[in-house]
Amino acid sequence: MRRRIRVGGIVQGVGFRPFVHGLAHRLAVTGWVRNDGRGVLIEVQGEDYALDLFTAALQAEAPPLAKIDGVAVDDIAEVAGEQGFVIDLSQGGEVLTAIGPDTAVCDDCLADILDPQNRRAGYPFVTCTHCGPRYTITAKLPYDRSNTSMAGFALCSDCQAEYDDPADRRFHAQPNACSVCGPRMSMETAEIVGRLKAGEVLAIKGLGGFHLACDARNGEAVAMLRGRKDREEKPFAVMVADLQKAKGLVEMGEAEEALLTGRERPIVLMRKKSGNGLVEGIAPGLQWLGVMLPYTPLHHLIFAEAPEMALVMTSANPGGEPLVIANGEARQRLEGIADAIADHDRDILVRTDDSVVRVIDGAPTFIRRARGYVPVAIKLPRSAPPILAVGGHLKNTICVTRGDQAFLSQHIGDLDTPKGLLFFEETVAHLLSILEVEPELVAHDLHPDFHATRFAQTMGKETVSVQHHHAHGAAVMAERGLEEPVLALCLDGFGLGGDGGAWGGELLRIDPQGYERLGHLSPLKQPGGDLAAREPWRMGAAALHAMGKGDEIDRKYNQFNESRLIAKIMDKELNSPETSSCGRLFDAACGLLGVKPKASFEGQAPMLVEGMVTDPKVVDEGWEIEAGVLSLMPTLAALVDCQEREGANLFHGTLVAALADWVVRASSETGIKTVVLSGGCFLNAVLVEGVLSALRESGVAAVIPRQAPPNDGGLSLGQAWVAAMAMKN
Ligand code: ZN
Ligand code: ZN
Ligand code: FE
Repeated sequence: MRRRIRVGGIVQGVGFRPFVHGLAHRLAVTGWVRNDGRGVLIEVQGEDYALDLFTAALQAEAPPLAKIDGVAVDDIAEVAGEQGFVIDLSQGGEVLTAIGPDTAVCDDCLADILDPQNRRAGYPFVTCTHCGPRYTITAKLPYDRSNTSMAGFALCSDCQAEYDDPADRRFHAQPNACSVCGPRMSMETAEIVGRLKAGEVLAIKGLGGFHLACDARNGEAVAMLRGRKDREEKPFAVMVADLQKAKGLVEMGEAEEALLTGRERPIVLMRKKSGNGLVEGIAPGLQWLGVMLPYTPLHHLIFAEAPEMALVMTSANPGGEPLVIANGEARQRLEGIADAIADHDRDILVRTDDSVVRVIDGAPTFIRRARGYVPVAIKLPRSAPPILAVGGHLKNTICVTRGDQAFLSQHIGDLDTPKGLLFFEETVAHLLSILEVEPELVAHDLHPDFHATRFAQTMGKETVSVQHHHAHGAAVMAERGLEEPVLALCLDGFGLGGDGGAWGGELLRIDPQGYERLGHLSPLKQPGGDLAAREPWRMGAAALHAMGKGDEIDRKYNQFNESRLIAKIMDKELNSPETSSCGRLFDAACGLLGVKPKASFEGQAPMLVEGMVTDPKVVDEGWEIEAGVLSLMPTLAALVDCQEREGANLFHGTLVAALADWVVRASSETGIKTVVLSGGCFLNAVLVEGVLSALRESGVAAVIPRQAPPNDGGLSLGQAWVAAMAMKN
């Protein structure tokens, strides 16, 4: 009995062939295994029962980094006189067609560097087929050392022997290295630790870019970092040695624990414990703290010398520009921010930020999807022609489809700086190249002035323009395999509407042919235009104006110079566009409650108010729904003379009840029983969990994004799926 077995997915560069080799020896079967252009191909010969065990074990016992998405088995003719089982390297070298994500150092490699007798003791670039850098060090296909930033490091004889030995866990580990032959840090670990303990700010080169690091218990150091980085209040993430230390800082459930210790090692947002010893300046006023555990060997070596330390580890991205990745660039751009730079000579080829997740309704939701997750594909409900989707303007990502796989890029960020645009264009070129995809269609946002839109239109390909909230809803449909009509509740800050207006609180019906706007939040004026997104008091003023209490604006907000003028500006309709945005509705509530009337970053005030919620309450007759338009004006009116905490409870409780009512009515009118929830407002856990529980008994199934962020980081996936659904028609 002989079988040919094809295995697809992420099966190359992850120790799959040595695993197959070991399995074959265990089961005493003969044959061979090799990599080819489509994954791993195996021929195996032996007794029936042995082959069955072999086939079953391929999936059940696959190495940790393998991600199998298909096993096809064919019976073929037996080969006479075959001796043993071999790894076949005869196919003109390696053809590795998939690049894996970067992963945290594995336990075996960690043991190597912490063992004083090991030849890699203290070596910060240890790696094997089960761990380490992949995406960030690979320039192009095939995935082979010569196409990575390890190309310039020739293996020493010891490393070469490991690389050549199928029984070794470093067999064909492309980034394999040791202190004799591999990359080096520019600064000893002891010096890094000494400087951090002395209160310095260090720029430390990591896996996907530089971090700025300092002691999180040193108020002066944290203040210095904020001052130099010109980042007033945006929260910093913290790294500590292990799970126990993390538990001292934040409240954590099982889902958070699994995320913190998982090989993707994201930053996990959790509720702060009071008296955790960290300085308030790390996440001023916020109830949440982003925590991560060490993921590179260097991080572990630092914490091995200073196990009690808590480190601020924030992306080195001065001025909202992309993360710094090159040594020379670090010296130029981080000069004046860092006291010293600890870099190394393994180049970062692909800029990749830390991922950020939050557990909502018991499972992870992405705030930012990048290191550790990219370039793992999101499976689409069916195959589509190759599509490139270029995303939105803020929190940009791009998406490329190949067959039934959607490859969402790492977080690229805001496209409002020249360096941001450059990163965007590099990412388009790189992702298309490593996937070997030539797009037939380019999808972009409806907004004609977005850089991404203009870029799409100059590619010389057929283009599809996709409305912002249509894309938000479709992103959830894509990852959940939904192609039948759904309701989509899309709540965010801003997206250009189909009627040219500013949208952001939308109830849509989406099907493969397109979308229909069933309803929206009742519009508020946005006095000062974009400024209102940073200054919630302006939205508070707009709410008062809409209630006919324009004369109260000046009294309530007299600390701001413009308070006297703002009612007149709205009367005369000057620079006060209307918006149905839910983000601005949140700002209006914050403005009325007097929470952070001038915010230092978008979303700050709503995050503060979410943190105040203890016991959501519903305002009697707090909303009205007429012809699909949902108005929360009665609730806003109730907030005018309200304490902060009481107001936070009333606003959240009523908004949740109103949204559920709105969805249920739309469901009974349309007969559609599924609603997808999307848009940046759905990073608010109180809102999501409230709406989910309110809908649980209603007969409407609510679906939330799990694989792509609900915010604009998921737009490109939705654009791609809208284009794919349209192409089928
Ligand atoms: Zn390892
Ligand atoms: Zn070596
Ligand atoms: Fe959006």
